[in-house]
Amino acid sequence: MSKIKILPEILSNKIAAGEVVERPASIVKELVENSLDANSSRIMVEVKKGGRSLIRVSDNGVGMNRDDAMLSLERYATSKIYTDGDLFAINTLGFRGEALPSIAAVSKFCLVTRDEASSSGTEIIVHGGTIKKVSEIGAPQGTMVTAERLFFNMPARRKFLKTVTTEMGHLVDAVTKIALGWPDVQFRLTHNEKPVKNWPATGDPVDRIVDVLGIDIKNDLYKIDFSSNDLSMTGWISSTRNTRRTSRGIHVYVNGRSIRDRVIQHALFEGYSGRLVKGQFPLAVLFIHVPYDQVDVNVHPAKHEVRFAQQKNIHEAVRRSVAEALQHADQSGWTVPKVKANQPSVRQPGIYESKADFDRLEKQKKDSPSGEMEVLTSFPSVFSQKKDTGRVQATVQSPLWERKRFGDLQVIGQFHDMYILCESDDGLILIDQHAAHERILFEQLKNRFQKRKNTSQKLLIPETIDLGYREAKILERLIPDLNKLGLEVAPFGGDTFVVKAVPLLLKNKEIKPLVIEMVEKTAQVGFSFGMERVLDQCIELMACHGAIRANQRLSDKEIQELLHQLDTCDQPSNCPHGRPTWIRIGLKELEKMFKRIV
Ligand code: ADP
Ligand code: MG
Repeated sequence: MSKIKILPEILSNKIAAGEVVERPASIVKELVENSLDANSSRIMVEVKKGGRSLIRVSDNGVGMNRDDAMLSLERYATSKIYTDGDLFAINTLGFRGEALPSIAAVSKFCLVTRDEASSSGTEIIVHGGTIKKVSEIGAPQGTMVTAERLFFNMPARRKFLKTVTTEMGHLVDAVTKIALGWPDVQFRLTHNEKPVKNWPATGDPVDRIVDVLGIDIKNDLYKIDFSSNDLSMTGWISSTRNTRRTSRGIHVYVNGRSIRDRVIQHALFEGYSGRLVKGQFPLAVLFIHVPYDQVDVNVHPAKHEVRFAQQKNIHEAVRRSVAEALQHADQSGWTVPKVKANQPSVRQPGIYESKADFDRLEKQKKDSPSGEMEVLTSFPSVFSQKKDTGRVQATVQSPLWERKRFGDLQVIGQFHDMYILCESDDGLILIDQHAAHERILFEQLKNRFQKRKNTSQKLLIPETIDLGYREAKILERLIPDLNKLGLEVAPFGGDTFVVKAVPLLLKNKEIKPLVIEMVEKTAQVGFSFGMERVLDQCIELMACHGAIRANQRLSDKEIQELLHQLDTCDQPSNCPHGRPTWIRIGLKELEKMFKRIV
């Protein structure tokens, strides 16, 4: 007799259930997805004892007639795909035809459904995969699926169910994920007959985001909009003031399906690059739309993961639009963006205090033979306006003028020789002088590096540095780029080097510790992430060494200079390591603290 047997259907359904039906939350997910595929606008989820004793999902979708209802319980029975081709262009959340039979195989199951054309509904009762009863029944249009006593016939699986609290946690997460992706559908969730969540349908995704993620992020979201030939994306991301310790606040939807995708998450982080410190995660809700045949959803049994045909394009689209949204928000300085589109390009004082400043710069630009200029003010002498000339012109043509700027802030004074206190329309702004200056120097160095315009100052007495063998090899590799940064280093035989000139901004600083730190950091990280990373790190260190320190008294003029320079930065809100350069204590917050308002 042959050893190989075809499994009886009930057993194969139980096995399939192992993949699809991991826990109550996965049943809810499958059922709610079915309701969405059926075009429902209201979906109600009821559970008891964390889903162990009852899970019920009812909807007002298209429903089924009697024949379809019977068929829907057969394995591989689906109305969603018919051909091979369909499998590679799936436009529904479901397609495997496995969920209903799998759930019915491991519970006391009941399906009640009616479609528009039928005058009465159908009720089918199934216990552990065996059909017990099929009857005609009065029912509203739509579908109600009930699964009671989950795993009653599989004690081994039942043992693996966790506590009510844990299962309920997963379940709320699952419903939340879906609800966030479908704001125009109403969702209600009850546990032991008590309401847990009710999300009314809304035309504005932001309402749902605020509903789900919490009201405090409402004013902290930046919009993303992207569209190219066959890829479009909308979304909302949080400012770096509203971050989390895990990735749980990141929600990505591809054609309505919530997915986990490393490529997209990576792109998101790249977009935030330089703005988050280690261990910080942004909040993000991204809706990506790609043609159905450009995404393979059939890679994961629970359909959590997908594969993109155009992975690179999607990565770039996400990275760029996130970076642009943040950049845009940054340019508005310290207040909520108030951009008026298509504003006439009037030349007004914006990043400079007055038109006089602007004219002075223009004049200097003309006077300087190279078209370049170096305005070295008394403090910090490293500040140069070189880069700004370009920006002034650019800004004249763009509608950035209306925006509030650091330079417009009313300075109150310096606090603890560390922070600059300022008054804004709606609160108190604190600026970390070191972090802010670091950002300024970082961008200046980098810009001039790219334009090959770093100016250096020769050292009267060149400084020699002795390194170990490995460090010496690293420094050798860095030399050409360091030279471009204005740090002139040359080999001096063996593992010894000599520093001949330093960037102007480091002119009175100790140079040896900086060079050693650059070499050590590079040794740690290595060159595997590319030269640009290594260089960024070196520039970061230069900026850090060159920046004004905490505990340094600043004159009023120096403070003004710092604020104006901050306005010329592309990313003024974070230091190069991602720390914030400024924080705001809102008037409202203060009033709350003083109990003026409750
Ligand atoms: P799949 O969703 O992969 O097709 P399921 O086992 O989840 O497989 O469902 C089988 C079929 O039953 C679906 O293709 C659909 O035609 C029908 N169906 C399931 N749930 C509903 C529902 N809530 N409303 C209408 N039809 C449904
Ligand atoms: Mg399904």
